[in-house]
Amino acid sequence: MASEYEIVIGLEIHAQLLTRTKMFCGCSTEYAFNEPNTNVCPVCMGMPGALPITNEEAIRFGVKAALAINCHVNLYSRFDRKNYFYPDLPKGYQITQYKYPLAEHGYLTIETSTGEKKIRIRRLHLEEDAGKLMHQADKIDTAEYSLVDLNRAGVPLAEIVTEPDMSSPQEAKIFMEKLRNILRYTEVCNGNLEEGSLRCDANISLRDPETGNVTPRVEVKNINSFKFVERALEYEASRLKGYFEGDKDVIRETRGWDSKLQKTISQRSKEEENDYRYFPEPDIPPVVLTSEYIENARKELPELPDAKKKRFVQTYNIPEYDASILVSTKELAAFFEECCANYDKPKEVSNWIMTEVLKELKDREIEINDAKVTPKHLIGLLTEIDRGMISKSAAKSVLAKAFETGMMPGEIIEKEGLKQISNTDEIQKIVEKVIEENPKVVAQYKGGKTKAITFFIGQVMKAMRGKANPKIVNQLVKEILDKPK
Ligand code: ADP
Ligand code: ZN
Ligand code: MG
Repeated sequence: MASEYEIVIGLEIHAQLLTRTKMFCGCSTEYAFNEPNTNVCPVCMGMPGALPITNEEAIRFGVKAALAINCHVNLYSRFDRKNYFYPDLPKGYQITQYKYPLAEHGYLTIETSTGEKKIRIRRLHLEEDAGKLMHQADKIDTAEYSLVDLNRAGVPLAEIVTEPDMSSPQEAKIFMEKLRNILRYTEVCNGNLEEGSLRCDANISLRDPETGNVTPRVEVKNINSFKFVERALEYEASRLKGYFEGDKDVIRETRGWDSKLQKTISQRSKEEENDYRYFPEPDIPPVVLTSEYIENARKELPELPDAKKKRFVQTYNIPEYDASILVSTKELAAFFEECCANYDKPKEVSNWIMTEVLKELKDREIEINDAKVTPKHLIGLLTEIDRGMISKSAAKSVLAKAFETGMMPGEIIEKEGLKQISNTDEIQKIVEKVIEENPKVVAQYKGGKTKAITFFIGQVMKAMRGKANPKIVNQLVKEILDKPK
């Protein structure tokens, strides 16, 4: 029995496409904002005789997503019916691309602790989302019942299936983050795990490298945050170990992640493919694309995060670490570039974005585009620092104020009286006073304890409420202390 088992993970990811209308009808996809069962029509409610029509925008978004993850797009793909019974599925089947997917054979490169790793993508296919069940417990007679909302039924999904190439829960999380980033750049999916616009089912098994024995494979569903991708898989990896010690509970099944209990719970044994009785969807013609169509979609792709990161390192001469944070969203990257277009110290811009700007965004739980601070504000602030108008520490509170009010840094400095004091005479008076009041420390300094200088600097800054120009304070304290009496 091995002490370390190999972990094998493959992901199946569902991404809701940001089309205006549903996959096979003209209903709006903005299901979350409307009253239940208002974004519906005979097609997405599964009325007998209603005929689906394929949404071209969904095809185009699917092609763009596929190209962005290095897939080969098939000129011919087709829809099948996947039959199963569930109350959120009004037709009794889901329309999905099964036998002939839209795209195949892609990959993404992820950065792991041990270097770069290629994760192969088996396929990307299109399908429709199901409705939503809301389970209720009636307080009066304690009867339990469920309501169904079909607003989501028929929303286009791209399902992305990876090969089982990830070998730790952490790699799975990194992969998901990278995929999300790319889908958001491509503007085909908003990538919101909490709201379910991006969903991840994770398959996991263990292998004993000494004997070659493997555990049954388990699929974990309901993972709705990046933290849980890692947690759920760690939990499962440790549970699966029991198999090698004869734990009979480890079987091939589907489990759900319960974030309250912080564990996975058995849901059902895995269906076999033939349980679904797939057959070609008779009401929808196959999707036949031309190479020209695919090339046009490729032209619509933006610069993707990896390429942008590389360019940032080369063009702005900033560390790779900085670049990878700056490209974490397309909007943040644009913010950085706009600052650099008008201010020629990119590393300084990057430092401020990575620390103060991101901190303010996090505290306010907003994205850069929703912030009142624009590149103009940040450049304004950096220029005030350069001109010696404010200290760096004061600048931080100016930035916070700008986030709050949208006022320009110059205005804030003026209004709050934060202007840095660079007047040498004024500072000298205070330095002399502080030195006079602390003869003991002066003696220590003269006795060789040169570190005592920081005490004086601190006292002067305190007396001047942080507004003194630190360079001048430094210089004057030294000068006066070292002056022979
Ligand atoms: P199924 O027929 O059960 O749907 P697939 O072969 O289609 O299985 O694979 C579904 C997912 O399971 C894929 O993401 C794949 O990478 C993953 N997978 C396949 N084999 C394993 C394994 N041994 N351990 C973990 N994941 C696996
Ligand atoms: Zn409809
Ligand atoms: Mg499968």
